[in-house]
Amino acid sequence: MEAIVERVGGVDVGQATVVATVLVGAAHERARKETRTFRTVTRELLALREWFLAKGVTHVAMEGTGIYWRPVYELLEDAFDMILGNAHHIKNVPGRKTDVKDSEWLADLARHGLIAKSFVPPKPFRRLRELLRYRRKLMESRTAERNRLLKLLETANIKLARVASNVFGVSGRLMLQALLDGGATPAAMAALAQGIVGGSMPWPLIGVGVLLGIAMILVSHDLGVMAETCDRIAVVYAGQIVEEADTKTIYDAPRHPYTRSLMLSVPTLEGPRRRLMSLPGAPFDLRGEPVGCRFAERCPIAEDKCRRETPPLVVVRPGHVSRCHFALDPRAMQFEAVVGA
Ligand code: SF4
Repeated sequence: MEAIVERVGGVDVGQATVVATVLVGAAHERARKETRTFRTVTRELLALREWFLAKGVTHVAMEGTGIYWRPVYELLEDAFDMILGNAHHIKNVPGRKTDVKDSEWLADLARHGLIAKSFVPPKPFRRLRELLRYRRKLMESRTAERNRLLKLLETANIKLARVASNVFGVSGRLMLQALLDGGATPAAMAALAQGIVGGSMPWPLIGVGVLLGIAMILVSHDLGVMAETCDRIAVVYAGQIVEEADTKTIYDAPRHPYTRSLMLSVPTLEGPRRRLMSLPGAPFDLRGEPVGCRFAERCPIAEDKCRRETPPLVVVRPGHVSRCHFALDPRAMQFEAVVGA
């Protein structure tokens, strides 16, 4: 059979060594053969590359088995036309007993165009693929650990998953920490809910009622679910109810900056595109003695008074309360202008 590549290399890659054969010869003549062995350290692989270049090699064939071929491939791919063969197909050919024979065989097959090239994505895609595979593995590990914890909670008859829509959200994790610390009462647990707590019962009973299993309650950060499900909503921040009203009022006329931040963090389907709001800073540290407004460090309209004086629950109108010094002040209504929403 007539050759189609005049200068070709065949590489048999092992864990410790790489055996390479170069075949050089015009299509109609018998090729001259030279074989060398290199160790798989980078310095020697670069020497392999230099040797191929010195021999005028244009194509290099190798088998794609395991992972050992990868570093060799990476160091050669920008200088040669790489032919990565399916190891299964090549191995089906009898008569190969040694690494030297393997490399000769690979070079000979490639010289005659008999190796079907496996597709190897370009380097940037390979990097991205590695990253995504690693990410998926991490996600799977995380899910497995979470499931293990949920099972443990169920085994211990701790019904956290029934009262928190996301046991591993901010509220759920605070509750888990409280469980680990020990001595948490149902009321203290309920007070750890961050975000929105809603239900169809008066707010002072929300936490206790749920944890005793005597009322339906929803704990969530999902504003859509809350709007659909609840008659009344209490917005909770750092273990305190900061605003409470019927669902329509909370969505149409919120009077607390935290509630307004939550509303501005949700994309709308109508109107011009706008930047979604995110709160700067970290959640309030509940371990110290709280002084002033717990939301002050993250509130875009905070003033000195907010850090000095703890705001009371102010009645905005019957059935609507807000824990903000400025709940009845027009400044509270200008929140969107301040944050540029
Ligand atoms: S009391 Fe001050 S810091 Fe707290 S929410 Fe109102 S404006 Fe913001």
